[in-house]
Amino acid sequence: MSKFYITTAIPYVNAAPHIGFAMEAIQTDCLARYHEMKGDETYFLTGVDEHGVKLYETAQEAGKDTQAFADENAEKYESLREDLNLSNHGFIRTTSDYHKEGAQKLWKALVDKGDIYKGTYKGFYCSGCEAFVLEKDLVDGKCPNHDKKPRVLEEENYFFKLSKYSNKIRDLIKSDKLQVLPESRKNEILNIIGDDGLRDVSFSRPKDVLPWGIDVPDDLDQVMYVWCDALSNYITGIGYGEGEKGSKDFQNFWPAQAHVIGKDILRFHAGIWIGMLLSAGLPVPDAIYVHGFVTSEGKKMSKSLGNVVDPLEYVDEFGVDPLRYYLLREIPTGDDGDFSRSRFVELYNSELANNFGNLVNRVLMMVGRYLDGKVAGKEANPELTERIEGLWKEYGESMDNFNMKIAIEKAISLVDYANKYVEDQKPWELAKLDKAGLEAVLYNLLEMLRNSALMLLPVIPGKAEEVLRSLGLKDGDYGYGKYFGFLKDGTKILQGDPLFPRIEQK
Ligand SMILES: [Zn+2]
Repeated sequence: MSKFYITTAIPYVNAAPHIGFAMEAIQTDCLARYHEMKGDETYFLTGVDEHGVKLYETAQEAGKDTQAFADENAEKYESLREDLNLSNHGFIRTTSDYHKEGAQKLWKALVDKGDIYKGTYKGFYCSGCEAFVLEKDLVDGKCPNHDKKPRVLEEENYFFKLSKYSNKIRDLIKSDKLQVLPESRKNEILNIIGDDGLRDVSFSRPKDVLPWGIDVPDDLDQVMYVWCDALSNYITGIGYGEGEKGSKDFQNFWPAQAHVIGKDILRFHAGIWIGMLLSAGLPVPDAIYVHGFVTSEGKKMSKSLGNVVDPLEYVDEFGVDPLRYYLLREIPTGDDGDFSRSRFVELYNSELANNFGNLVNRVLMMVGRYLDGKVAGKEANPELTERIEGLWKEYGESMDNFNMKIAIEKAISLVDYANKYVEDQKPWELAKLDKAGLEAVLYNLLEMLRNSALMLLPVIPGKAEEVLRSLGLKDGDYGYGKYFGFLKDGTKILQGDPLFPRIEQK
C-alpha cells in the first residue's frame, strides 16, 4: 500500500463557487476516489483563500465586515462536500489559527535561510491577479487577464529570493522529478523560467495599505503577500504548523502526489511554491496537474453575457452524478472545454440512460425473471476475464496519468461490449431451451456490470454504488482487482428503479 495526497487550489471567497472550480474539485475527487479504491492511504485537501486585496475591497464595497463576508461565502465552498459528493478529508480556511501559525512558521524558515530581504517595490499591481504585472505584459495599459488597469504601487516590502532557486526549479521540472502535466504546461513554465531565471518576488504588503492578512513575524507593520500565505495551505492543512516536525499527518502525507490547479496559476505553483519549499528544505510535490477553462455555450462566461453556469442548478435539476459525469467525460482532461445544456442532455441520454443505465436495468430484470433474482452458475470464462483485465490495465494507466476522460472510455467500452453481448446471446431464447447456457450468460453479464460500475465508482460514486449494492455487495467490498468470479452463487439481486431516467430535450 502506498499513500496518495492530493489537493485542489484554494479559491478566493469573494463569490459563490463557479463551474470551473466545481470541475477542479470533481477532477481531484475522482483521482482521490480512484486511489482510495486501489487501497492507497489517501488524503484529499481542499479549502478557501480568505485574504487578498480583492476580497478586502469586495467586502468594503458590500459594506460588510471582511470576516463576516468571508464566512458567508466560505460556507458555500465547505458545503460542496455534500453538494458535489466530494470525499475530501480536510477543508482549510486561511483565517484559521492553525493556518496562520503554519504560514508564519514557514516564513521564519525562509528568513533563517537568508532568503527574505527588505526592499522598495515600484510597479503595477492587478488585484484580479493578486500580483504585480510587468509593463511589457500590459495590453493598452490593462491586465490582459482581467481587462483592468492595474494600479501603480510604490511600497516598502519584504522580498523572497526566488531567483536563487531558478536553476534548481528548472532542473526538477525538466527531469520530471516534479512532473508538470500536461506536456504543454511543462513547456510553458520552462519558457517562463527561460535562460534568465525567475525574479525575486515581493512577499508582503504594508498594513496601512492592506490591513487584511497574516502578520509578518517580527514586523507588525506588514502582512504577508496573499500568495505566500495561500500556497502554504498545502502543508499547513495537514499540520505543518504543529510542533517542530509537524503533525503525524504532515509527516505521513507530505510531499503531495499532486496539486490540481487551473492554467492561470501555473507560475505561482511551479515557480514560487517550489522555491519556498526548496528554501525551507522541504520535499517538493510529485506532480502539478493543470486543467483548462470551461466556456459556456461556446463563449467565455461573463455576467454581462448572462451565460454564467451555476453548477448547483444542474445538481438540483439532474442530480450530482450527471454533472460529475459531464465534467469528467466531456471536458478534455487538461484542456479547455465547453459547457452546454443541449450537450449535457445529449450525453446523459446516450451514455448514462441508454447505455449504462439500460444495461443495468436489462440485466437485473432478466436475472429477476429467469433466475428468480439470484446469481447462478459460475463457469470460468478465460476470454472474458482477459478482456476485462486488459480494460482495467488501460483504465489504471489513464488514471495514473491524470487522464480521467480516457479512463471513462474504458468503462464505457465494457458497457458497449456487454450490451452487444446481450443482443448476440439472446438470453430470452436460451431461457426456453438451455438453462445452463442461460445461467452462464447472465453470470457473465453480472460480472461485466460489476466491473463497469467499479470503474465508474470514482466518477459517479452515488449511482455506481447503487448498482454494486443491487448486486448484493456491501461495505465497500466490491471485488476490486477480481476480474471474474467474484459474485457468489445464490446471492440475491435487488432490482430498483431505472438508474438514469431519460431526459426529454426542451
Ligand atoms: Zn489581472
